Amino acid sequence: MRVLLVEDDDRLAAALIPALARHGHQVVRAARADDALRLKDTCEFVLLDLGLPDLDGLEALRRLRRVSSVPVIVLTARTAERDVLRGLRSGADDYLAKPFRTAELAARMAAVMRRGSRPLATAGPVVEAGDVRIDLTTRQVEVAGAEVALTRREFDVLALLAREPGVVRSREEILDELWGDVRLSASRSLDVHVAGIRAKTGRPHLVQTLRATGYRLAVD
Ligand code: CA
Repeated sequence: MRVLLVEDDDRLAAALIPALARHGHQVVRAARADDALRLKDTCEFVLLDLGLPDLDGLEALRRLRRVSSVPVIVLTARTAERDVLRGLRSGADDYLAKPFRTAELAARMAAVMRRGSRPLATAGPVVEAGDVRIDLTTRQVEVAGAEVALTRREFDVLALLAREPGVVRSREEILDELWGDVRLSASRSLDVHVAGIRAKTGRPHLVQTLRATGYRLAVD
């Protein structure tokens, strides 16, 4: 299979490319996230290092997931559980901590392929909440039939809640998924975006705040 290896470490890439070739894979290498995003459609599988020179790997993964459902295994020296969870939530199919054996990587790749492709995060349906219509594919929001212009971030927050209507998403989860960051500055910015959604839609109860828990999209 054609595999895109996104890895800035020349020595690791030089070792991995022939090793994967022995498992029958043809490897295309990208040393930077922007090259990876450019080359994504040429490959059937992506191996993604998180420490990249031009963009955090998790942000690269989020950008990739907006446009592609290609299987991704994250390869990283970061082993903190939080990073693993964040990586998987951002859309990785599996995760392997460095150093690893090529045989294990090849086995994990085969397991991911057997499971089949994941649904595209952006290919969601239209979600309706009262007279608010949220189209997750075209990123359009209508209130009582009239289109409302949200900012990109406001829409991201609304779409995240709309993917699971009625389900409470914690602040931390939202911040992790959209900002990759749970610091106070991002947290304040989330409040601003929620206020923006309420004001622009004129539906103050569309996004419900659950004190000390998080937010949810009101569907009733
Ligand atoms: Ca690296």
